[in-house]
Amino acid sequence: MNCDSTAEEAFDAMMRSYSEMREEVEAAPSFGEGSRKKYKWIRRIPYTEIGIKRMRCFRCKKQAHTQWQICADGNQWRPICVMCDIDLNRLVLEFMRDPDVELKMAIYASEMLKPILEEGMKALGVHDGVVGGRSP
Ligand SMILES: [Zn+2]
Repeated sequence: MNCDSTAEEAFDAMMRSYSEMREEVEAAPSFGEGSRKKYKWIRRIPYTEIGIKRMRCFRCKKQAHTQWQICADGNQWRPICVMCDIDLNRLVLEFMRDPDVELKMAIYASEMLKPILEEGMKALGVHDGVVGGRSP
């Protein structure tokens, strides 16, 4: 056995274990119903703006408002709620060691929460900060 065949064998072994791992990952429940056949039917096309609102957050099961895609997750489109989206954005910024995490998150969170707050105010009958309608 020379050096080349050892390297070749090591490469073959690596590729074999990679394909075994891949089969294992694709059979995992988070990839659908646990079969390779169904793996082909996972969400590869993004949800529409209306469609996403009908979905539940993949993480916490609250109403979804947007969707995320992760390469290691087979690029499946995952519905996600407002709060999980905000948390996920913070997580990624922190991971990237962004120097302006707090500033960026303050802006992003207020943009994301504004429509929800406005909806809540409307439901409470608050207009322009006044309960019960606009003052003359
Ligand atoms: Zn959530």
